[in-house]
Amino acid sequence: MTVEGMFEVRTTSRVQFLDITSAVQREVTSSGVTEGVCWVYVHHTTAGVTINENADPSVVEDIIRTLERLVPMRGDYRHAEGNSDAHIKASLMGFSQAIPVRDGKLALGTWQGIFLCEFDGPRRRKVSVTVTSAP
Ligand code: ZN
Repeated sequence: MTVEGMFEVRTTSRVQFLDITSAVQREVTSSGVTEGVCWVYVHHTTAGVTINENADPSVVEDIIRTLERLVPMRGDYRHAEGNSDAHIKASLMGFSQAIPVRDGKLALGTWQGIFLCEFDGPRRRKVSVTVTSAP
């Protein structure tokens, strides 16, 4: 059994990591799947999705600051829209994550959360959640 869900989030700044763990868990719960895999997919080219620590907010701050150092907003880019850094950072984070589902819950590590990574906000962003039950 595979259940498709979707939700939208609104980001509030140009660069922002938004904790979407509880929104993803809501989709897992409403899917009715208890054992399987949850795929989270972001339908954009300047936003991505990653999993990392959601206990200490300075971890996310450090990731954002390091990405900014690696891929500065202004650089020798070709893309005329002027947001090449956002496209590159989104590709570095990736556009999907797979999380095991056990007992109807996302089987994340104790300190893990799922983050939508906004790099060209503020915008509305669409997130798909596909939950597949183990055979
Ligand atoms: Zn662009």
